[in-house]
Amino acid sequence: MRDYIIIGGGIVGLAVGMTILERNPLATVTILEKEKKLAEHQTGHNSGVIHSGIYYKPGSYKARFAKAGSEGMRKFCQENGIDHDICGKVIVATNDHELPRLEKLYERALQNGLDVKKLNKEELLEKEPHVNGLEAIHVPTAGIVNYKQVSEKMAEIIRNNGGVIVTGAEVKSIDEKYDGVTVETKNKTYKAKFLINCAGLYSDRIAKMAGYLVDMKILPFRGEYFKLKIEKRVLVNNLIYPVPNPDFPFLGVHFTRMIDGEVDVGPNAVPGFKREAYKKTSFNMKDFGEMIAYPGFWKLGLKHSKEGLEEMVRSFSKKKFVENARLLIPDISVDDLIPAEAGVRAQALKSDGNLVDDFFIVNGRTSVHVCNAPSPAATGALEIGKEVVNKIEQIEGRKLVLNR
Ligand SMILES: Cc1cc2nc3c(=O)[nH]c(=O)nc-3n(C[C@H](O)[C@H](O)[C@H](O)COP(=O)(O)OP(=O)(O)OC[C@H]3O[C@@H](n4cnc5c(N)ncnc54)[C@H](O)[C@@H]3O)c2cc1C
Repeated sequence: MRDYIIIGGGIVGLAVGMTILERNPLATVTILEKEKKLAEHQTGHNSGVIHSGIYYKPGSYKARFAKAGSEGMRKFCQENGIDHDICGKVIVATNDHELPRLEKLYERALQNGLDVKKLNKEELLEKEPHVNGLEAIHVPTAGIVNYKQVSEKMAEIIRNNGGVIVTGAEVKSIDEKYDGVTVETKNKTYKAKFLINCAGLYSDRIAKMAGYLVDMKILPFRGEYFKLKIEKRVLVNNLIYPVPNPDFPFLGVHFTRMIDGEVDVGPNAVPGFKREAYKKTSFNMKDFGEMIAYPGFWKLGLKHSKEGLEEMVRSFSKKKFVENARLLIPDISVDDLIPAEAGVRAQALKSDGNLVDDFFIVNGRTSVHVCNAPSPAATGALEIGKEVVNKIEQIEGRKLVLNR
C-alpha cells in the first residue's frame, strides 16, 4: 500500500507531491495523470503571469497565497534555473468612470500588503508608451514564467525524491474507507492510505466518485487568446491590464508579454459546452447535460446575462474583441492579431448561482479535495501545496515529519 495517491498532474498536484516528500522524505507518493504528458490542461494553457494578489479579498486564500506564492515561485525559479522575469504590470483606467474603481483597487492592494505605486498619465507613458490611459497602478512584483516548465521541474524533483508519476492513468473509480483508499484506473488498481484530488476541471467528479456531495459543480470557462504579430510586439513592454469588474476580476482583455517574447492578447471568458472545451465547437453530451440540469448555471446566467452576452459577442466577433483591446492600445487593428490556442478555466459554481470566489479545499475521511483552484492557483501552487499538506496532517492527527 502506498502512503499517498494524488489525482492530477497539473501544477497543484505536483506542488502537493513535492511538499509531501519535502516534509516526509520516507513517504511513498504516486501521482496519477490521465493524459500522456503532465500539465496538459490549465497549467499548460494560461497567461503565464506570476500574480501579486492585488485583486483579492484581504485575508482570503487567493490574497495570501498569491502574495506568498509569487515570492515562493520566484525563489523556486531562481533556485532551479527556470527562465522568469519579474517585469511588473500596470492596471490602467481608460476613462473617468474607472477612476474610483482604480482608487479602490489601490486601497485593496495596500490592505493586501503590496508595494504598489499610482502612476499619472506621464508616468504611465514612460512605462508603456503606447497605452491609452488616464491613471494607473504599477505592481512591481508581478512577473512572467512558463508554468509548464515549472511543472516539469517539480516532476523531476518528485521523481528524484522517490515519488512515482504515472501518465495515461485516468482514475475511473474510488473506494474510500477509514483505513485507506482503493483507486482504479483502466489498467491497474492502486491502494493508498490517503488520497488527494487535484483534478482541475474534474475535481467535482472526483470528489463525487469518492463519495462527497459538495455544493458545487465545475463550470468550464474557455479563455480565447490572440497573439500580436511580431512587428506589433513593440507596442507592449510588459503586462497591461484594464481595471477589473469587481465581480469578475478575471474578465477584461489584457496584454501579456510571455517569457518566450510573444505577446498574448486575451483571454475572454465564455462557458464551454464540454469540460475540456478548447474550441468554440467543442461539445460533450454528458458535460452539457450536467451543466444545463444544474440550477446554479441558470441562476448565474440570469444574474449576469449582460456580462455573459458581451463575452459571447467578443468570442464570435474578432472586430468586437479588437474594439475592446483598443481601449488600452489604440494602435492595434484586426490584422495585427493572430488566433492562438485557448485555455479552459475550472471555475466552481454553487447551486445558488454564485461562483466560488476563493480557493476551496474540502477534507474527506482519508482524503483532501482541491475543489476550486482557478487563477491565481498557478502562482499560488506552492502555497496550496503547503495548505493541503497541513490539512492532511490535521486529518491524520499528527505531523507528517513524525509519521515514522
Ligand atoms: C486561460 C487561463 C489563464 C490563466 N492565467 C493564469 C495566470 O496568468 N497566472 C496564474 O497564476 N494562473 C492562471 N490561470 C490559472 C491556472 O492555470 C490554474 O489555476 C492552475 O493551472 C490549476 O492547476 P491544477 O493543477 O489545479 O489544474 P490542471 O492544470 O487542470 O491539472 C489537473 C489535472 O488533472 C488531470 N485529471 C483530471 N481528471 C483526472 C482523472 N480522472 N484521472 C487522472 N487525472 C485526471 C487532468 O488531466 C489535469 O492534468 C489561468 C487559467 C486559464 C485557463
